[in-house]
Amino acid sequence: MQINLTELFSQTVKDVTIRRTLEMDQLEFGGEIFEISEPIKIEFEVTQLGEGEYLTQGKVEAALVMYCNRCMNEVISRIEGRFTKELNENIDDPENDEMKDYYKNSILNVKKLALDEIYMNVPMKVLCNESCQGICKVCGADLNQEACNCEDDNVDPRLAGLKDLFNERFKEV
Ligand SMILES: [Zn+2]
Ligand SMILES: [Zn+2]
Repeated sequence: MQINLTELFSQTVKDVTIRRTLEMDQLEFGGEIFEISEPIKIEFEVTQLGEGEYLTQGKVEAALVMYCNRCMNEVISRIEGRFTKELNENIDDPENDEMKDYYKNSILNVKKLALDEIYMNVPMKVLCNESCQGICKVCGADLNQEACNCEDDNVDPRLAGLKDLFNERFKEV
């Protein structure tokens, strides 16, 4: 998915809006594979600033299949990455090396630009629900689906002392 930017502009056209959809099943980021549940959308505006010099501004939307950090159930993680980038081939700046990955010889690699933006916005962890109960560490039951009878032996010893005190008082009444 490559676009030659010089072909988009003329004396009268200085602004162009580009919309593309990427049909992909999977993405690989840092050795990890993510399934994609719907086509990736990218929409951005390109403004010509000068010869070989452009400003791009827009957003990328993707839906990745991830897994809840507590219960391991599937979660669709909606990612939206907004970006503003200056494309300029005239600058030979090492800090612009990243730009050369997706813009070179007036050719903008839209797919590379979109995937980089998604990658930067993938959350480290997702939850199916803020109140997800997770999985019982003893029997493996999904505590959102069923309660189990396992003893919770992770009671904080300080709290356990309070519990005993509370039980004694309760008996006296
Ligand atoms: Zn969960
Ligand atoms: Zn259990």
